Amino acid sequence: MATRAMEPEYIALYRSGELESRAEALEARLRSCDICPRECGVNRLENELGFCRSTHLPIVAAVCAHHGEEPAVSGSRGSGTVFFGNCNLRCAYCQNHQISQDFGAQQANEVDLHTLAERMLYLQDELGCHNINFVSPSHFVPQLVRAVLEAVPMGLRLPLVYNTSSYDSVKSLRELDGIISIYLADLRYADNRWGRKFSQVSDYVAWARVAIREMYRQVGDLVVDDEGIARKGLIVRHLILPNRLAGSRDSLAWLVHEISPKVTVSIMSQYFPVHRALEIPHLAREITVEEYAEVVGLLDELGIENGWVQEMGASGNYLPDFVGEDHPFGLAAAVGKSR
Ligand code: SF4
Repeated sequence: MATRAMEPEYIALYRSGELESRAEALEARLRSCDICPRECGVNRLENELGFCRSTHLPIVAAVCAHHGEEPAVSGSRGSGTVFFGNCNLRCAYCQNHQISQDFGAQQANEVDLHTLAERMLYLQDELGCHNINFVSPSHFVPQLVRAVLEAVPMGLRLPLVYNTSSYDSVKSLRELDGIISIYLADLRYADNRWGRKFSQVSDYVAWARVAIREMYRQVGDLVVDDEGIARKGLIVRHLILPNRLAGSRDSLAWLVHEISPKVTVSIMSQYFPVHRALEIPHLAREITVEEYAEVVGLLDELGIENGWVQEMGASGNYLPDFVGEDHPFGLAAAVGKSR
């Protein structure tokens, strides 16, 4: 569905004072942290560390215009990505492991909230991006909201994208209602055995499903503007893992039957064994042509018509490098073909 550009809803929340109330409510929860489903209970305001190894200051590992997201997200001018450091998962195959799991190094990337707000304005005004895309934000929801509150009077007007593993607390997501326009949500596993083994999370499936349900309640099916750029809605990403570890049939069927027959799905074939995956036999290879064809076939079988399918052979093109000053994705080209 196409629509003309509209003012993001967070502007009205700012004017009414609701945005400030949300920031305060979220920050209070940092005192006994339950921002994500781990519910560590540590006092992040006093720099105690929970599973995500993150204090009250946001960690911003990289900021750039990203041209390799889905076409409706990257558009022609790029998606304004803010890569948060650290994570509330520990995926053995994480392609961003340099910034998600190197906790000591990431301390150097802690910034204050005003700096985070300024970086959003840089992405909007200097780089001309279509949106602000918060990558791995689940452990920094209070900081995200406070920085948006700072950025609105500075001129922020872009739609906000919440780009997540979906291991999110519904309580935290509810505070984002009306702030986030586009949810870009992974659905990684359909079986907790694999989450436990490969991502150090025992209860991923239930949390991710309830989180995606809440995201959809807030933003609904994807809406694009006259140029095909996302204005609002849910996009679910599904990364094909080797050996059917992603549970594609189960996850895609759940999306169609429990979320929406019109759900927008991005099928990703870019899996490449990096980080600890090289030492794990189940994960130590790329996906095969047969595994790829099987998942693509499921789209037709289940009647999934909206979204994109990354072409086979994309695996090497999407490996970021966050070490050094260069753009983490080099000149990587945009994602595959539309459904
Ligand atoms: S955000 Fe971090 S400290 Fe808070 S509950 Fe999650 S993992 Fe624990």
